[in-house]
Amino acid sequence: MHPALDSVFERRHREAVLTSPLCAGKLCHVGRVPMEERVVGDLLFLNQAFDPTTWDAREIRRMVDELDRFQPEVIEADPAYLSILARACVLEGLRLRQPECIVLTYEFPSRVHLRQIAPAFPGVPVVSSYGSTETGHVFTRCDAGVFHENTATCHVEIQPLRAASGDVRIGRILVTTLDNPWFTLVRFDVGDLARLHDGLPCSCGRHDGLAVAAIEGRIRDLTFDLEGRAVTVRRLDDALGAAEHLLGYQVDQCGAREYLARYTAEPHADEATGEAVGDILRSVYGPGARITVRREAALSPEQSGKFRLARTTFDWDPQELFS
Ligand SMILES: [Zn+2]
Repeated sequence: MHPALDSVFERRHREAVLTSPLCAGKLCHVGRVPMEERVVGDLLFLNQAFDPTTWDAREIRRMVDELDRFQPEVIEADPAYLSILARACVLEGLRLRQPECIVLTYEFPSRVHLRQIAPAFPGVPVVSSYGSTETGHVFTRCDAGVFHENTATCHVEIQPLRAASGDVRIGRILVTTLDNPWFTLVRFDVGDLARLHDGLPCSCGRHDGLAVAAIEGRIRDLTFDLEGRAVTVRRLDDALGAAEHLLGYQVDQCGAREYLARYTAEPHADEATGEAVGDILRSVYGPGARITVRREAALSPEQSGKFRLARTTFDWDPQELFS
C-alpha cells in the first residue's frame, strides 16, 4: 500500500464499496434494497445494478446522497464502475463526497478510467491494490513507484515468458507464503503478470528481495500479436491511453490475425477516435492485423460483473507461454 495511506488503514475507518453486486462478498443482491441493509459494520455496498451502464440520474443521485450520509474515509472500487459514477457527477455538476483515499481493486485500472475518475476527486490519492488480492501484501510500493517483495511474509518468483512468447522481462507471479504455518511452501500462481524492475538497486535504497516495475495484468486477459507474442493488458492500455475522447474499450482477438475493438467515446468525438484506435492496434499487433473497430453506445460487463479490457475468443494453453 501507499506509505501516505498507512494512517487511514491503521485506524478504524468507514469504507464504501463500488463494484459488481456479485463481487461484494457476503452481500449479493441485484435490485433495490434500503441503504441500511447494504451496510455491514463499517462497509457500505453502494451498487445495486448488475450493469452500471444502466444507472440513471436517480441511481447516481442516490449514490451521491448515500456517500454524503455514510461519510466513508475510503472508497474501494472497481475502476470501471467508479469511472461511470465520477463522469456522471462531473457532467451533472454533482459534488461527490471526498474520501481520504480511493483504492482501486478487482480489475486492471485503465488509463481511460483513471482520467474520468480524477476530475471528480481532485487531490484525493488513488492507489491500486490490483495484483495482490489473493496473496495479501506480496508487494509494497515505494516512493519511486517500484513494487518490492515483502521478504518477511512471502517469497516471490517471476516465471518469465519464453523468448518466443513475448518479453522475457515479463512473467507470471508465483508466491510462496512464509507466515502461515499451514501453507508453508505452497507455491501458487496468482494469475497475474509482472514486469521485473531492471537495472541497479532501486533509488529508494531497498536491495533485498525481488523488485517489480509494473503489474502487467491478468494472464487470462492476454492477447497475441501477429508473431504470436503475448500482449499484456498494460501494454495495450498504455497504447490506447493516447486515443483522445476514449471512455472505454474492449479488444477481442477472434483469430491469429483478427481483432474486434469496441469502444465508447465522448459524445462530441468524431470518427478520428475510431481511426486512432485502429492505428494504435496495428502498431501493437502488427501492420497486417485485420482490425474491426466499432463504436458502441455502452459496453456492458461480462456475466461475472467484470469489464475485461482484452480477451481472446479462442482457447490457448497458458503453460506453453512460460519457460
Ligand atoms: Zn524502491
